[in-house]
Amino acid sequence: SISIHWFRRDLRLADNAALYHALKSGYPVLPLFIFDQNILDKLPKDDARVTFIYQTIDDLKKELQLQGSDLLVKHGEPEKIWPEILKQYKVKEVYTNHDYEPYARERDDNMAEFLTSEKIAFKTHKDQVIFEKNEILKADKTPYTVFTPFYKQWHTKLNDFYVKAYPTKKYLKNLIEIKHLPSPTLKEMGFEKSKLDFPKISYKNKLDDYAKERDFPALDGTTHIGLHLRFGTLSIRKAVKDALEAKSTVWLSELAWREFYMTILWHFPYSASDSFKKQYDKIKWRNNEDEFKAWCEGNTGYPIVDAGMRQLNQTGWMHNRVRMVVASFLTKHLLIDWRWGETYFAEKLLDYEMASNVGGWQWAAGSGNDAAPYFRVFNPELQTKKFDPKFEYIKKWVPEFGTKKYAQPIVEHTFARERILKVFKEALS
Ligand code: FAD
Repeated sequence: SISIHWFRRDLRLADNAALYHALKSGYPVLPLFIFDQNILDKLPKDDARVTFIYQTIDDLKKELQLQGSDLLVKHGEPEKIWPEILKQYKVKEVYTNHDYEPYARERDDNMAEFLTSEKIAFKTHKDQVIFEKNEILKADKTPYTVFTPFYKQWHTKLNDFYVKAYPTKKYLKNLIEIKHLPSPTLKEMGFEKSKLDFPKISYKNKLDDYAKERDFPALDGTTHIGLHLRFGTLSIRKAVKDALEAKSTVWLSELAWREFYMTILWHFPYSASDSFKKQYDKIKWRNNEDEFKAWCEGNTGYPIVDAGMRQLNQTGWMHNRVRMVVASFLTKHLLIDWRWGETYFAEKLLDYEMASNVGGWQWAAGSGNDAAPYFRVFNPELQTKKFDPKFEYIKKWVPEFGTKKYAQPIVEHTFARERILKVFKEALS
């Protein structure tokens, strides 16, 4: 008899909650990863995240092989793969970490039902956040929808216990002894290797000056760890512990924003696709396809917007300040539905995280839980003056900036501002 640890977005051996519990289950542990076809089928063939996962899985496999064990890697639909696994192995218990996205919740509910019917225990653990679900609630037991009071409680509750690492490595001797488990290649799964570079986990040198530098895209003062938090190659407990040790309170609060949005998505799953404030779904978006294309390609004639979109297209990452500017520009200047922008980001961002992406987009559109009032329209020119005054960021990504070759503005700012105020007012009154 064995236990299985099912890796999903927790792709590391160190400080992994469910893996720790699996290793202490009393049965030898078989580690498993499934390339989920339900998710992969929707992605382009050169999707960079698939390459990242593939390389990470390969590293994990090698680490496990050094322990005399291995990683079972499957490709297909989990609901079809699990019955096959149960035929091959005598499984007593299955361990995995919580995932809060709507698709994952449904998949895990189905898994729980299936495994229970097979008399197998399905044990799930909190791993990707410090506080989850109902751990941070208002006095009346309802969820917070505003960040500041959420963060106050999150911070008050935080102590050494919550950031203590699970000593997984001590128990790796409890892994199953096994050799040569099969693994599909990227090509067999229908994907190509992406040419993008992936950021390394090296953020400690950024924390001291983070508060000062984080808002200036040319300085690149942020840590680029979003991808690693997304796929669990970095433990959130480790990140929070490092923030506390460096006394980087601003960075700590950014990590809490991530949890805030995950908690919002958990309590309000409809907000993944509908406006959090439902009256915003009455807005008559213009949804002009040519203008959307110009935005996607970074050809709007607004230099800060174009720089951001080109950075995204070329690297899979965009600076937070610029994410806010381009999102505001799409929804307010061009009156294009926030879902179009959200979907484009979801396809391109290496650090794509449904909760934060939907949260960021709804914040920009004004439809979100803690959004600025709709009549606050970012002025791209003022944003540039404040945050890229010497046009360093812009020149890096838009080399033709300042020449005749550069595009004319797709829409005039004052006109666009008046238009959106009228359209939003009509929908919301
Ligand atoms: P740092 O500034 O170094 O922060 C460290 C970590 O804290 C980030 O990696 C992230 O996990 C978290 N964090 C920081 N800011 C935020 C925030 N505002 N909301 C939630 N978490 C935050 N973040 C994503 O992780 N995935 C997304 O898909 C995503 N989409 C966004 C879309 C829009 C329209 C906007 C305005 C913001 C979005 N963000 C998203 C938030 C933020 O822009 C990124 O987390 C940040 O730019 C990532 O860079 P970094 O890793 O260097 O972050």
